[in-house]
Amino acid sequence: MKLRTLAIPIRCVDYSNTSQIVSMFSREEGLLEGIAKGAHRPKNSFQGPFDLAVVYDVSYLKRGTPGLSILAEAEVVDGWRGIRTCWMRHILASQLVEFLRGVSLPADRTPKLFDLAARTLTHFSGASLDSLPWYMLHFEIRALHLLGFLGGVDSCAVCGLPWPGGRRSAYYNSLAGGLVCRGCNHEADTPPGGAITLPGSGVRLLKDLSEMPAPPESNGVEKKNLRQVHTCLVHSFTTVLERPLKMLRYQASWL
Ligand SMILES: [Zn+2]
Repeated sequence: MKLRTLAIPIRCVDYSNTSQIVSMFSREEGLLEGIAKGAHRPKNSFQGPFDLAVVYDVSYLKRGTPGLSILAEAEVVDGWRGIRTCWMRHILASQLVEFLRGVSLPADRTPKLFDLAARTLTHFSGASLDSLPWYMLHFEIRALHLLGFLGGVDSCAVCGLPWPGGRRSAYYNSLAGGLVCRGCNHEADTPPGGAITLPGSGVRLLKDLSEMPAPPESNGVEKKNLRQVHTCLVHSFTTVLERPLKMLRYQASWL
């Protein structure tokens, strides 16, 4: 039986003379790995060979695990062309795709994460350059939330003590899953380099963004705050993936 899903390729490898093996982050299946026979032939059923960071409407025949599904047809829903015309947009999209590659698993359906990724790539393609770091930060926070790796953002992730607000700083501990109070920070396991001290403005930003399923375009946030929160989230990504994202070496070009 043919199935259908929206899907974003996260790895494409050429196979034989004309085919591709494509790993996709799909809305209905989680990680979907399939063979696209004849994808490089002039006439094919996929509107050309598959490319990374494009959203397709894909029809496929599912195979048991282990085994590749057969990709039958695909239609481009959005090619996110802006990503391909600007270095900063390209870097951000590549980082997002690398993250999806790290967390997607077969039969692990996470439609909310899919929708978040698709919406963020739409912003990366077309929103103003000033607002892109803001959308990246939002993706990082919401993705960690949706996967269950980010706990407290306004209270201690260990004991639940509320963050007192204002300018009071807090500790961010990626192993504990978010903010920790002073007392718990002394007792908790800490990641290499220790917990990060996040100033009150950073805690506020983390909390605000975590509560917005779809943030409005904004360029009014100070770069310093964005950087501080991003540094915390990078620690969380490294904890989740058990290695740093390779694309982080290019982050200077967008932060
Ligand atoms: Zn605590």
